[in-house]
Amino acid sequence: MATIAYPQSYYAASANPVPPRPALQEEVQTDVCVIGAGYTGLSSALFLLENGFSVTVLEAARVGFGASGRNGGQIVNSYSRDIDVIERTVGPRQAQLLGQMAFEGGRIIRERVAKYNIQCDLKDGGVFAALTSKQMGHLESQKRLWERFGHTQLELMDKNRIREVVACDNYVGGMLDMSGGHIHPLNLALGEAAAVESLGGKIYEQSPAVRIERGANPVVHTPNGRVRAKFIIVAGNAYLGGLVPELAAKSMPCGTQVITTEPLSDELARTLLPQDYCVEDCNYLLDYYRLTSDKRLIFGGGVVYGARDPANIEAIIRPKMLKAFPQLKDVKIDFAWTGNFLLTLSRLPQVGRIGDNIYYSQGCSGHGVTYTHLAGKVLAEALRGQAERFDAFAELPHYPFPGGQMFRVPFSAIGAWYYSLRDRLGV
Ligand SMILES: Cc1cc2nc3c(=O)[nH]c(=O)nc-3n(C[C@H](O)[C@H](O)[C@H](O)COP(=O)(O)OP(=O)(O)OC[C@H]3O[C@@H](n4cnc5c(N)ncnc54)[C@H](O)[C@@H]3O)c2cc1C
Repeated sequence: MATIAYPQSYYAASANPVPPRPALQEEVQTDVCVIGAGYTGLSSALFLLENGFSVTVLEAARVGFGASGRNGGQIVNSYSRDIDVIERTVGPRQAQLLGQMAFEGGRIIRERVAKYNIQCDLKDGGVFAALTSKQMGHLESQKRLWERFGHTQLELMDKNRIREVVACDNYVGGMLDMSGGHIHPLNLALGEAAAVESLGGKIYEQSPAVRIERGANPVVHTPNGRVRAKFIIVAGNAYLGGLVPELAAKSMPCGTQVITTEPLSDELARTLLPQDYCVEDCNYLLDYYRLTSDKRLIFGGGVVYGARDPANIEAIIRPKMLKAFPQLKDVKIDFAWTGNFLLTLSRLPQVGRIGDNIYYSQGCSGHGVTYTHLAGKVLAEALRGQAERFDAFAELPHYPFPGGQMFRVPFSAIGAWYYSLRDRLGV
């Protein structure tokens, strides 16, 4: 079997050194077999190990190979659809539970970083930047909503105030969330994997789960080995393919692209983002950016429905970067890559159980750094028999994509075109 390497990203080039882990070559027995070593899988494994379960993690490529090792690194609180939509979709008790959890993922990341001494350049402070007065109005109501669920540390910013934190003239205002922030995402995943192993968990790389034998005593097959487990957690998200057909039917992998500049002079970096906060704008197809610890600008945006890899990523993303920061016109791009996240029709995560012993969480639809850490905790609670918070997620409706596997891409692209047109027109 060919070895799968990390994509050529800034993160892979600046990762804390870790030797590759072996592939599974035998039959092993474990309490829980986790499929996928991204944040969902690693967070689940860590919470389970901390609660006395034995855990085996199977990873098709390398730890953090998927979105968890390629993302913008932004700690964004809440979900890709906000709590007001959840309140309208489900009853008040469930909405209350989900609302209370909306900021927990960020706290889990900070606890993990502190407890396991993870070196991942953690910085506090995230900005939501409004391009129109309508978007600003939305941020004002979002602040009121989040405060109703006990989340403070939020500051609304007018045009002058946001200019103090972002050297971009395009914004009419914004909201600063000091419980947001940013990290080196691959180093966070690598640190969490080391924590899993420090507690006795086993991680096998280059070991794709190719078949699940379902039943009272499920078995996960890899090309050269088998895992017999009491429970399985499916955490393959946008990279899962057809392993679990029920999950593929109700979600769609989408690509988003990221570029990284050469290191900027200290002075230029300081003028762009003086407080070193990360920023995302409020468009439906949003742009997001931040500085790295060695003063590069990481800039992401764009969505490719169906997750085909675009030929020239720099040609797509550089114009967006220059629209925000024309002062970077002579700066060289050192890295460009793409990664896949999993979109659901409601843009809310899909959490559930198949049969008695196969659990899953997937589809955080773009914002998943915090949610996936929470998901690991909620899945671990369910395996321990405390399912109240798991049920709050599991009861959210799951819809199949209109058009099925064949037509979901064009249908969604038309939907996105409509919303991005509304963004451009400011309506
Ligand atoms: C380019 C990009 C930028 C993003 N930026 C942000 C951001 O700034 N902030 C934010 O909140 N969110 C962001 N996201 C979303 C966020 O990164 C994801 O929601 C999150 O990382 C998903 O984690 P995961 O563990 O569920 O999936 P993944 O990290 O994708 O992990 C799934 C893992 O499962 C493995 N796998 C799949 N199938 C199998 C199998 N059969 N057997 C074994 N292993 C398997 C894969 O190889 C992969 O390593 C971004 C996503 C992308 C792609």
